Amino acid sequence: MAKTVKKVSKSKASKTSSTKLGQFDGKKAMAHVEHLAVTIGPRFTGTAGEHKAADYIAKTFKSFKLATKLQKFTVDTFDSPKCSLKVLDGKKWRDIAIEPIGMSGSTPAKGFTGEFYYAESGEAEYFSDEMTGKIVLVCGNIGEANRYKFLAYKPKALIIIEGGMGVRPLRMNIRDEALKAYGKLPMGRILHLDGVDIVNKNITKAKLTIVNTRRKSHSSNVIGELKGTDFPDEVVVICGHYDTSRGVPGALDNAAGTALVMELARVLALQGSKRTLRFIAFAAEETGLVGSKHYATELLKADKRQKAAKGFNDKADKTELTRHVLTYNIDVHGAIIGRHGFSFSGHEDIGAAVRLLAKEIGMVASASVGPMSSDGSPLAAIGIPALQFARGGGTGGYLHSPGDDIRLVSAGALEKAGVFSEILLRRYITQAVAMPFPREIPEDQKKKLAMYKVRDPAQAAKDKRAAAAKKAGKKVAKKAKRRSAK
Ligand SMILES: [Zn+2]
Repeated sequence: MAKTVKKVSKSKASKTSSTKLGQFDGKKAMAHVEHLAVTIGPRFTGTAGEHKAADYIAKTFKSFKLATKLQKFTVDTFDSPKCSLKVLDGKKWRDIAIEPIGMSGSTPAKGFTGEFYYAESGEAEYFSDEMTGKIVLVCGNIGEANRYKFLAYKPKALIIIEGGMGVRPLRMNIRDEALKAYGKLPMGRILHLDGVDIVNKNITKAKLTIVNTRRKSHSSNVIGELKGTDFPDEVVVICGHYDTSRGVPGALDNAAGTALVMELARVLALQGSKRTLRFIAFAAEETGLVGSKHYATELLKADKRQKAAKGFNDKADKTELTRHVLTYNIDVHGAIIGRHGFSFSGHEDIGAAVRLLAKEIGMVASASVGPMSSDGSPLAAIGIPALQFARGGGTGGYLHSPGDDIRLVSAGALEKAGVFSEILLRRYITQAVAMPFPREIPEDQKKKLAMYKVRDPAQAAKDKRAAAAKKAGKKVAKKAKRRSAK
């Protein structure tokens, strides 16, 4: 009896092989986004959601047989138990939607009733003595240089009107570098149209309540490593942050980027790699790139330790830091409607590689010199070239707000970005006979990266002591000078 051969539809088979350029599976990535953004939900720095996500990612990395570990560190986090704004519109009090700015100050627990002062776009020209004791409204933000000037007028609170109509009140926090400038001022954000209404109707009376509490907690970078078969001493970091702004599902930003990293880890671990791949899900990005800065600091410390060790040959030996040859960072992705864009810090060939591949496979993607405000930049600032990949577009107004949810993400959009990344990494990193990108950052780019620079804490403490000693020395010298003048 002849065996019946199962008929395979020819057209179907050839269609899959021609459209499927890689093994990256958008559906598998989508399942990770669902787990992170829906099952777990908000993953703010130092909270239970972030810790649950770390466990999930670590478990996933382990299932791909990656050498997996958590890099734990201390963080500042906050809760905002109370936040409300009422305005007196004609004779009626009504509520206005407001989001507190985390790490900012608090009003009394019961709030206070005060008057608005509209300082337009927050430039110093709009500051006036009339701001004293008032709730100041600005559209946009007060520039760094003007913050101390602003505080000198002793305003009672600051409310930022969102700059765009489609932007929901963002859930942001003051980053460390701005904390001192803003002091203990209570701060919040409102919708653009609510701002228009208040200014247009000349509403002056308001009742504001903002309570922010600050506490110490911990976060963890999740690291899964695949050792290189031919060049184990060349380490390429493939990363994305998994934390979110407070109370935000963060589907696009950045459950999607984390999912891309996880699915790339599965695929590239199956294919094998000549170079060492270090897949990292960074924590605490939204509170000021804290996770990647911690990773960079640890690299600097190891570098110093290894260089100081007996028998270290400066010309021949590599340190943990100099073994790192490239960072591929993925932040904000998966948008059904969007546009791909790369930003790089390093040799122009990195941008060229992206542009050529985009032409070859017919995906439109820009590639321009960075830095991008994400986890690749602190690593670029200590000398590791970075390529950072984002998908922007119309969804921008939803980032850092509760609107950044699963409705905006699709498996198809993830697959396009995933396949592109897979081919790029396979061609230039995992299977390349020679590393194609030099380990260098051009001088003009270094200047732009300075704001992301971390320092070895031991060296920073030493410098601080030296500066204090110098200052004290000057004082002594001044006194001596005055004495001798007498
Ligand atoms: Zn992000």
